[in-house]
This record gives sequence, structure tokens and C-alpha cells, in this order.
Amino acid sequence: MSTTNFKAEIISIGSELTSGQNLDTNAQWLSRRLAEIGIPVRWHTTLADDLEENVQALQIAAARARLVLITGGLGPTQDDLTREALARLAGVDLVFHQESFDKIRAMFARRHRDMPERNRVQAMFPAGAEPIDNKNGTAPGIWMKHGPCILVAMPGVPSEMYSMFEDSVRPRLVALGASGGVQIERKINCFGAGESTIEEKVFDLTRRGHVPEVGITASDATISLRIFGRGASTDEALAQIAPVEKTICDRLGDLVFGFGNEELQDVVIRLLTEKHMTLAVAEGVTGGILSQRLTHVPGASVCFLGGIVAYDNRVKVEWLSVPQQMIDDHGAVSAEVAKRMAIGCRSRLRTDLAVSTVGIAGPHGATCDKPVGLVFVALASGQGVAVQSFNWSGTRNEIQSRTAKMALNMVRLHLLQQQD
Ligand code: AMP
Ligand code: MG
Repeated sequence: MSTTNFKAEIISIGSELTSGQNLDTNAQWLSRRLAEIGIPVRWHTTLADDLEENVQALQIAAARARLVLITGGLGPTQDDLTREALARLAGVDLVFHQESFDKIRAMFARRHRDMPERNRVQAMFPAGAEPIDNKNGTAPGIWMKHGPCILVAMPGVPSEMYSMFEDSVRPRLVALGASGGVQIERKINCFGAGESTIEEKVFDLTRRGHVPEVGITASDATISLRIFGRGASTDEALAQIAPVEKTICDRLGDLVFGFGNEELQDVVIRLLTEKHMTLAVAEGVTGGILSQRLTHVPGASVCFLGGIVAYDNRVKVEWLSVPQQMIDDHGAVSAEVAKRMAIGCRSRLRTDLAVSTVGIAGPHGATCDKPVGLVFVALASGQGVAVQSFNWSGTRNEIQSRTAKMALNMVRLHLLQQQD
């Protein structure tokens, strides 16, 4: 694959970023996009809205990087100084660009609003710079050269910046030959085993220097493997990924639940829909998280009927037919109660499947034989009822969230075993 000498710097401008009020997500997003086209990002700089400091930072960046991507400070207000800072860097005046002005005015007209006089400033560009179209907002971007360095200023508003980069900036960088090839990331999502257990199964692939590179990360008990395919073209990068992806999937089997942004609930809804089956939930420790996640998936109404948040024991008894004696004998956080909740929920809501959760989310409520993090998840189906327990460590939030995942995973594995 080809290499590039286009070391890049990303500059994020805004006092709301340096003050800690907002998180700079633009630098992260842009770094990932540049990595995809093989341009190495060497510097991230975050700046307050201060003209002198911006000019200084631009001078430093233009001296060390071949490509400088700037976001923020293109708005119409007085604290938006990027245009002026770029003009000062280049030692040129800001000049009025009629075509950009007409576009800004047209944008206001489409929204049936008068254009405030201040927006005129958004049609001012450092002499010699080029405007970049903004489909989603008023501020055009700026493309300019300063010595060997290319500087590109884009809006701070993430959605405006994303489309400007994808539509105008990325293609132009590739056409310029700035790209060092294509990098494609394939993410494989797993649930049901710890990070080290999963890594053991693919140890030979995650070692440093393996081609393609395979990384492993854990987030809220979901373990993701990322394969980074590189090549001169998309096809070449994909061809590098394919055999490694197959090896990983073969070795991990049903620990793998999805790819890319797919979550457990997406897979559960898809499988239920394919198999024409229905699901209900009886939530103790998860307190509605399961229902929320399931209903977040478009199309969930076809297969997810609803649920009962049975947080208090009285709800477990009155609405899910759990015998009070069973709670007295075993405690609410027990395999027996979880199973009865699932059975009760399935019959009350008349679904093919019902899943239940009970547990101790903490930080209080532990007993000598039941620690914080102990949870039971049960699944009732036409074939009977199954239960699993786990002892999570983590915060209350983490325990609740991971228990919801455990329940979803139990449904997923059950559905995978069903014949169509
Ligand atoms: P600006 O283009 O400077 O007027 O920024 C407009 C808005 O975009 C700001 O108020 C922020 O909410 C958002 N924004 C600006 N820069 C960033 C950044 N680096 N990351 C995430 N959001 C940003
Ligand atoms: Mg700003």
C-alpha cells in the first residue's frame, strides 16, 4: 500500500471546549475518518475563542503539519474568529464572496426568516481561500493553502461538519493524493465471556504486528474485536479482513452476536421477527432498561409486547403470581423467584417467551450470602424455564445495564437454537 507524508493536525476551536462545558467530539470523529484514508493525525489542539492564540496555534500547525483540519469559530457572532485568524496567518485581508452571500441568504429564505446583518460576515474569506459548500447550515467552510500546508476550516456543529467533510473534504483529499490508501474497520461484537477469555481464543491474531491488525476492547461487558484492513483500494482492504473475520467467528461461535453498531436488542428483535415469536419482560433489578432497549429498535412492536416492572415484592406476587412463601423462603433475589416471574409474565402477557431479572444493584442491600452484583435472569418458553446467575462487579448503573444485556443474550441464544 502507498504511504503518505501528509501528517495532519486537528484544531478544535471554542471556549465551551476548553472550559470543559462541551466535549470535543469533532477531533475524534475526524481522526477516525483520516485514519480510514491513511492520513496519520499527529496532533490534536483545542483552543479558546481568542484571536491572538488562534493565530499562534495556526502558525505552529502550519509549520509542522501538511494538513490542518479546523472546526468551530465559523459562526456569525463576535466570538467566531476562525476566518480572521486564517487571514492573519496568511497576512491577507478578508474579502467578500458574493456567491456565498447569496447562498446564505437563500438558506434563510428557505426557512422563511430574515437574514440578520451579522450573517454577512460568513461570506467573508481570506483572500485566495476557497469557500466550501455547507448543505446543512449557513457557515460555508474554508479551504486554503499556506506554503505547503493545506488548511481546511469547517463548522463546529457536528452534523454540519460531518456532511461537509464527507461531501467535499474527503474526496478532495483523496483526489490530491494525500491519502495513504484505504483503511476499513470491521467490528465484531461479543457477549457472554470476559475480555481475557475471548482474547485467549484469538491470541495469535491480536498480537502486535499481526496483519491485519486486530484490537480488542471491552465496553459495559460487550467485548468488541476490531479488524483494521488496509490496502490501496477498498477491495484490497476488505480482502485483508475477510479471512480473519471468518477465523474469529469460527473460533468464538455464538459468543459473537453482531457487527458494527449492532446491539443485542437489535439482534433479539430481528430473530423474534424472523421466527414470528413474541416476547415480554418482567423486570426487577433492571427496572425498565430491558423494555427501553427493546422499544428503541425500529419495528419492535411486531414482536415485543411489553412488560411489568416488578420492583417491589408485592408486584411480583400480585401481577406475576410469585407465591409469597417462595419469596419468604428463598428471598426475592433467587433462581426460584426469577423463574416464577418469567413463567408468570409469559402467561399473563400470553407471549411465546418471557424473560425476567432480579438482583442486587447496590450499593446497599447485600446480605452475607448475597453480595451486591448477584443477579438471576430467567427465560420462560414453551419448552419450560431456564435460569442463569452471575455476580457482576461495578456500579449500580453497570450492574443494571449488564444484567439487561445478560437477559437479552439469553433470549438471543434461545432463539438461535429454535428450528425455523
Ligand atoms: P461554532 O461553529 O464555533 O459556532 O460551534 C457551534 C457549536 O458546535 C458549539 O456550540 C458546540 O455545541 C458545537 N461544537 C463546536 N466545536 C465542537 C467540537 N469540537 N466537538 C463537538 N461539538 C462542537
Ligand atoms: Mg464557537
